[in-house]
Amino acid sequence: MNTIEANNFSSGLISLIPILFGLILVVVVIFLFWVLPIMLGIKQARKKNYSPAWMCLGIHPLFGWIAFIVLVCVRPRIRCASCGGFVKDNFFKCPFCHEAVSANPGQELPPRL
Ligand SMILES: [Zn+2]
Repeated sequence: MNTIEANNFSSGLISLIPILFGLILVVVVIFLFWVLPIMLGIKQARKKNYSPAWMCLGIHPLFGWIAFIVLVCVRPRIRCASCGGFVKDNFFKCPFCHEAVSANPGQELPPRL
């Protein structure tokens, strides 16, 4: 009787293993589809001078991926030297103060009218 009970106990444990693997799989899938775009998006946002708060959209996994893709596609922003406003790096003039901006601070832009 005792050996039968022990067998039942160990087979119960063995039958738990697929459930544990299932749980681990669910955690990994949630991480890949939900947490990963938020982490990558925050990295992109910091690199391109956008607010990492955009990745608050990642509260929903779908919006998280959309925000991440948008952040990958947009041009990086640079800070205007004279007014401190953010300007896309392909702008020649700051739209706020109309001063010339340069994506590469060491490089002089040709004068524009
Ligand atoms: Zn400016």
